[in-house]
Formats: sequence, C-alpha cells, structure tokens
Amino acid sequence: MKPIQMVDLTTQYLRMQAEIDEAVLHVLRSGQYINGKAVDLFADSLAQYTGSPYVIPCANGTDALQIALMSLDLRPADEVIVPAFNYIAAAEAIALLGLTPVLVDVHPQTFTIDVQKIEESISSNTKAIIPVHLFGQTADMETLMRIVQKYHLTVIEDNAQSIGASYLFSDGSRKQAGTIGNIGTLSFFPTKNLGGYGDGGAMLTNNESIAKKLKKLASHGQSEKYKHEFIGCNSRLDTIQAAILQVKLSYLDEFIAARKKVADTYTNEFKWIDWLETPAIANYSTHVFHQYTIQVKDGKRDDLQQYLQSKNIPSMVYYPMPLQNQPAFRNKIRTGSALSVTEKLCRSVLSLPMHTELDDEQMTYIIDTIKQY
Ligand SMILES: *Cc1c(COP(=O)(O)O)cnc(C)c1O
Repeated sequence: MKPIQMVDLTTQYLRMQAEIDEAVLHVLRSGQYINGKAVDLFADSLAQYTGSPYVIPCANGTDALQIALMSLDLRPADEVIVPAFNYIAAAEAIALLGLTPVLVDVHPQTFTIDVQKIEESISSNTKAIIPVHLFGQTADMETLMRIVQKYHLTVIEDNAQSIGASYLFSDGSRKQAGTIGNIGTLSFFPTKNLGGYGDGGAMLTNNESIAKKLKKLASHGQSEKYKHEFIGCNSRLDTIQAAILQVKLSYLDEFIAARKKVADTYTNEFKWIDWLETPAIANYSTHVFHQYTIQVKDGKRDDLQQYLQSKNIPSMVYYPMPLQNQPAFRNKIRTGSALSVTEKLCRSVLSLPMHTELDDEQMTYIIDTIKQY
C-alpha cells in the first residue's frame, strides 16, 4: 500500500504533469514573470467559474483579507466580527490594521459562525463581519445577510477553504461561496482545494468601484503608474502560479467530486460508531470537504490520534487553540459571545486524511483501523 498522507500533492501533480509542465515552460519562455498574460486569463476563468464579475488576484489568502479590510477605510476602535474557531488569518489581518476582532462562537455541528450569536456581539463600533466558510461548506449566509442589512455592516467572506461550494437560498436560487457578501477572499495555498505550487490568493466582488479600489490597493495604491491614490501594498499573483492554477481550475469539479466520494465513504462507515460524530452537512450549502473533521467524544481525541499515528495514519487537529487564548491577541480582542463551543471543539475535533488521490486500499485500511479502535 502507498503510504497514507493528509494530502498527496505529488501524485496529483503527476496526473496533470504534461499540462502543468507545458504551462510553466510557456511562462518561463515568455519572460513575463510579473503580471503576465496568464494572470488576466486566470482571473477571467475564475470569474466565469465563480459567477463573480470581478476577480482581483493577489499574493495569498491573508493578503486578500487584509486588502479587503483596507478598502473599507475603517478607523482605530472600529470592530470586525470573526468566528473564534478559525485559522488565525482573518483576526490577524483585523488586528494588524489596528482594528478590534470581536470573537463569536461557532455552531456545534457545522463549525461555521453561529448566526444566532451575532446580534448580541454587535456594538456601535461594529463595522464589518468576516464569516469563514470552514472546512468546505458556507456559513448560514441568508440569516447573516439579514442581520448585516439591519446593522449596515460590510461582509467579507473568507472562502479560503470552500471554493466551489454553493449556497442554497430559501427561494431556491444558488450562489457560490465567496460571491454573496461584499467581498470574497480566496487562497491558493498548495493544500487548498484549488492550490498552486506556491502562494496565491484572490478577491471576488460584484461591485465595480470596490473592484477598482481593491486592484489599486494591491498595487501600491496606484491609480496610474507612479501616481498613488492610497497607501496600499504590493500583493501580486505570480504569472507561473496563475498558469498552474489555470490548468488546475479545469480539474476543480473533478477534485471536488473525488473529495466528496472519500467523505461519503467515511461517513457511511463511521455513522454507526458511537464514540465519534461525523461532519454535518448543512441543508443550505453543498460541502466541498477541504477537511473531513470528526468530533471524538469522551476526551479520547488525543488518544485516537496517537493510535492512528502508531498505525501510520496521519491526522491533524484543526484547530487546537481558540483564538481568544492566543498570546498574540491578549488585550487586542473583544469577546462577543460565550465561546464554549469553540473551546469544546478545540479539544474534540480531528481531521482525517482527505485528498483527491486516496485509493480503495488506503480507504479500507483507514476505515478498518478506526473501527478497531
Ligand atoms: C489558508 C487560509 C487562509 C490564508 O491563506 P494564505 O494563502 O495561507 O495566506 C485564510 N483563512 C483561512 C480560513 C484559511 O484556511
């Protein structure tokens, strides 16, 4: 049996090698390493895929969040709501700009922001909210949009993990994750569902003037060459990465289907096990399974992880520490709601191997080993 990995980028690359190598060589021969043609082409393709009229590529998903926040012209003491059970990027970008992250608890089954706890977290300083579409499905955006309309908040969707997921509105219409709020952000970090072979990111918006501003901010605030309208930053998607992502975007639906197949197999086998809880799929969102994350009951999570490791099955804890406990955020955050679900999840979640290259033999081994625990 091939050794089991959390993600297997090499085997995936080998399946597309001819196309990827050709795309990279094309860039190398063109000499257009910065802002080459492939960057615009990829932005256009991504606009088509997501249904977002404007796509602004940038250097990584954290920059995308930072630039999106910069475009809002917020002032010190302004607050931005984020889920407490999350990767650090969104809260970090908020704090870096001198704003205050307001932490809100997440829903115990879907792991996304608990929309029932948003209103109690809003103060007169609250200006924006960053729902995070965690692990592959969206937050409850319809409820969230109703709340933000009432309080006039801006919505930045952190869609680093859920490109391709689609949200189902109660009127039956659908929108892709990242295209529902004012701005959506994407990461093309190699392990993401659409990953490059290096860093990359993008911002999505359906508003032309926001799009123009984001584009300027990502390019030193330039409105024309050597004329700087804003203090911006330097955040570009490499031409080589754009060329690679162009190839990989054509496989994205196939990748998502492969992940879903793994998830369905896991869930069918694990739903009978009483000491774990399989990931819930919200009725308002499709799930693209960036992670397959179980909850382990009875305080057995670390023990299970060690057992799996002894059987050469890797697993990861996303995320081990609630944001409110991070030393970097001491005196820099406000707690918007009780955060007991986040604390519990940090002790009980475990993400299992999830990628597009898991074969039947590996799946059977993982499933049998977990059943024997
Ligand atoms: C990966 C990730 C980011 C950051 O993306 P980078 O490209 O690594 O900067 C932001 N938010 C979430 C939820 C992520 O998973």
